[in-house]
Formats: sequence, C-alpha cells, structure tokens
Amino acid sequence: MKILCAGPTTIDPRVEKAMQGIVTNPDLDPEYEKFHRNVEKKLSRVVHTDRPSIIMLAEGMLALEGSVCSLMEPGERVLVLSNGFFGAGFSEFVDFFGGEAVLFEGDFRHGLDVDALRAFLEKDSDFALATMVHCETPSGITNDAAAICKLLKEYSILSIVDCVSSFGGEDIDFDESGMDILLGGTQKCLSAPTGLSILTLSEAAEQKMRNRKTRIPSYYMNLLNYLDVSEDFAFPYTMSEHLTYALNEALDLWQERDSIALHRQYGEITRKAFVDSGFTLYPKDAFSDTVTAVCVPDGMTATEILDRCREKGVMISKGVGELHDGLIRIGHMGSNISEENFRALFTVLDEVFGEAGMADTRFLETFEAAIARA
Ligand SMILES: *Cc1c(COP(=O)(O)O)cnc(C)c1O
Repeated sequence: MKILCAGPTTIDPRVEKAMQGIVTNPDLDPEYEKFHRNVEKKLSRVVHTDRPSIIMLAEGMLALEGSVCSLMEPGERVLVLSNGFFGAGFSEFVDFFGGEAVLFEGDFRHGLDVDALRAFLEKDSDFALATMVHCETPSGITNDAAAICKLLKEYSILSIVDCVSSFGGEDIDFDESGMDILLGGTQKCLSAPTGLSILTLSEAAEQKMRNRKTRIPSYYMNLLNYLDVSEDFAFPYTMSEHLTYALNEALDLWQERDSIALHRQYGEITRKAFVDSGFTLYPKDAFSDTVTAVCVPDGMTATEILDRCREKGVMISKGVGELHDGLIRIGHMGSNISEENFRALFTVLDEVFGEAGMADTRFLETFEAAIARA
C-alpha cells in the first residue's frame, strides 16, 4: 500500500530498521542520555535555533494540551486564533486549566488575516498568551506564523504555535519568527512513527513557567520536568528508546534529502495536477506545502473516493468534521514524497475519476511534465 495521507506518513525502511532490537536501558545508561540530548539538538537545528527542544513520549495532542497547562495560569486571558479545525480546539484546553479563552476567528478558506488581527489587538490586547496553528492540516492552509508571532510580540503576548504538520516541511526560523512554544509531532513531515511530541521553548516561555504563582497542575505535562534533570534520573519517566532511535534516523534522512525544497516542489505539483484536471482547491490562499485539500466533485463523496483508491493500492485522506465527506487530502509530507509514490497516486486518481465519468483528468500527464522540467 502506498501512503499519501496527511499523517501518519510513510516510514522509510531505514527508520523502521533503526527501531529494531533493545539496545540498552534508557534510564540507566549515560550513553543513552547523550544520544537523546543529541536528538533534541537535531530538532532545534531543524528550526534554526540554539534554544532547547524536548521530546515527550506522547502523541501530538498531549503537546497541545501540555503547552497550555504549563504556560498558562488560571484566570489568564488567552487569545485563541482560529481559522480551522485545530485552532478553535485550543480553547478547550484553556478552559480545562481555568483560563479565559477569547476566540479570534478567521475564514477556513483563507490564511489568518494579519491586518485584521492588528486591528483587533489595537482595541483589546490584554492577553498573557495566544495560541495558533501554523499548518491547518484539515484544510491545507499554512498561516503566516512569523508575521503573527512578531505582531503578538509587539503586545508582549507569548505564543504557542502548533507546528505538528509543518515541522520539517515548511521552513521555520524559531528565533526570527518570535515563537515561544513551538510544538510538533513525529508522524507527519519527519516520517517517524507516531508517539513522540517535540517542543521548542523560548527564553520568555521558560521564564514564565519558572515564575508562575501557581503550580503547573500536572506532572506528565509539566514541560519544566523535561528541562530540569534531577540527580538520579535524566528524564521524568522512562523514554522509549525505539522511538528515539527511529526519530534520530528520520532526522538524518530529513537532513540528507533537501526536505524543505521537496515539500515545496511536491506541494506545487499536487496543486497544479488538481487544478489542471478541473478540480477546486479548498484554500483560496495560504496554500500549505505539506498537505493539499481539494473539494470533492458533485455527486461523489470522499469516502467512496478513498475506498476506490485503497482498492487500487493508494491511501489518501478525507476531510475532518463537517467537511469529512466534502474534501480529499493529499499529504506531500516526509517519506510520502517520492516519484514512485506520486506516479502511483496520479495514475490511480486518473483511473478512479475516469471510472466515475470524468474523462478529461490529466493527473499523470501534469506530473510527468513537471518532473521532466525539474
Ligand atoms: C496531526 C495533527 C495534530 C495531532 O493530531 P493527531 O491526529 O492526533 O495526530 C495536531 N495538530 C495538527 C495541526 C495536526 O496536523
């Protein structure tokens, strides 16, 4: 089966192999700790910073929740920026931990409007922090995180940025953009197995956590527990060495391939292939270079398109929530990206839509032309 989903993505055989076999005891072996710290350094390098990154043994959602839990104190006002499925979800976490979420909503089909946000902040900027999603995976939009975080900085508002589906796929400069907590997952553009979260913390975020008046109401989600090494244990709990080995190999693979450029190239090719075949992209602007969301043609459902593709050996994603049957999505992420995978994808799409009566799609033709030009 060829996986062209918007995550989890294709695991390269090298990464799979790195996971095999128990090598050591991660709690007791000082060599493991050195290895682990080096993987954290590689993560920071992906986003061009010397600030520390930490690895949580947790699916991405726990990093979203943990960032709010650690950074926000009860009673604080939090600006929740939302133009998609994941954006608004942050307000629940703010609620759980006793904060006051104020929603700033944008259109699902457009990137967050920085000028509208500026106008909003001119009237009300009394926020301790803001949350936002860099790439809204369900709708294929990449927001201008750098412009938004810089604007927030002007008002001394700290930022939590969900980069789960952009980390390693879009070029992110952590320091330059002024993010305070960047959080990512391993199962999207890095193409490591699901199960680890990665977080990069700014100086300001660290200071705010250290200077809290109230305790961080969690052990597992307390990000300081990952920064502060106790005398007897290097980690707050036993790390999964398999997943860390896999992540390390995935990061090496990421480094060896010109990954950011590949995401950009395959993002462009995928959008062009759909547009040339007469489809409508869901976003009107701010197109993501890691995932493309496309409107399902009249008379069809995403579920049936996915079923037909799967029967022919290719897995793609459908929409989420209200849009679950109205969108199909292609993840041009990490190890999904190969000529072989995309040739298979576009061959199958021509077949599936051809069988549905659309005689003039030209997915494969667009792809071969683009590859020949590159
Ligand atoms: C994938 C993803 C997450 C984590 O969600 P899971 O589907 O549980 O892996 C969080 N935020 C964004 C933007 C994502 O793409």
